[in-house]
Amino acid sequence: MLVFKTILNTKKQRRKYNGNKCGLIPTMGSLHKGHLSLIEKALKKDDDIWVSIFINPTQFNCEKDLKKYPKNFDEDLKKIKSISNKINVFLPTESEIYPKKIESSKFNMNNLNNIFEGTHRPGHFEGVLTVVSKLFKIINPNNAYFGEKDFQQLFIIKNWQKYKSIPVNIIASPTIREKNGLAMSSRNCLLSKSIRNEAGFIFKSLSECKKICSNGNEIKQKLLEDFNKHMAFKLNYVACIDTNSFLEINEFKKFKESRLLISASVEGVRLIDNIALNN
Ligand code: AMP
Repeated sequence: MLVFKTILNTKKQRRKYNGNKCGLIPTMGSLHKGHLSLIEKALKKDDDIWVSIFINPTQFNCEKDLKKYPKNFDEDLKKIKSISNKINVFLPTESEIYPKKIESSKFNMNNLNNIFEGTHRPGHFEGVLTVVSKLFKIINPNNAYFGEKDFQQLFIIKNWQKYKSIPVNIIASPTIREKNGLAMSSRNCLLSKSIRNEAGFIFKSLSECKKICSNGNEIKQKLLEDFNKHMAFKLNYVACIDTNSFLEINEFKKFKESRLLISASVEGVRLIDNIALNN
């Protein structure tokens, strides 16, 4: 496993293996089985595999959230090495990625940046696209791997790639969960043990909604009732969307592909999750 801290050396290394199929897994570190599942997927498809670990400041709209974001670089490297020794890691500093000013570029996201997660985290998706576009330019991958857990992020990246004809395949991967159903997230370690256990109700509730509810209003009603039983948890939003347009819908059964998106906060930590409604 090789670790690169500079853009110059990363580009040099990439040039050596230019003919190989390159896969990139962008992460912010504190790796868990969700991240590792993306790496495993890349190992099956690509020859030159790059994991980037960079806590991207521009995608945090709140300084406090950025400061408390978990950092476990040594552990991360051990985990990557335990999967395969042939993975390259790009571990840049902030000034390497943002040499002049820590700020986002401008992107036209057709208003997708102003709904759901975007409403609660202004500037978040601009920050995400800024760092992803920088990483694509540095590593120049054939394939880039993203998790369905961040469903709106995945949709925005796919749309941007398509709209700008960026020559990278965006490959989506399903959400990996803790035993109790909670979607794995680097932020889960910020939760107390009891709340982390209790948080399993969110996915249980989403799964029940899928089973018994026949429209968005029923889903919202059921989730409100379920959240009322878990007073420490605040429901930020819940929405059924048409997966093709990302527009909110009520009669989701009429749509070929629809998803239920949810965000909740507990102990100062934001949790997001989603479930496909029609499969
Ligand atoms: P992050 O380090 O949170 O920026 O995540 C890096 C990548 O891993 C993103 O594409 C996420 O969607 C993906 N990811 C995060 N959590 C999970 C999970 N539980 N299952 C699958 N993918 C995940």
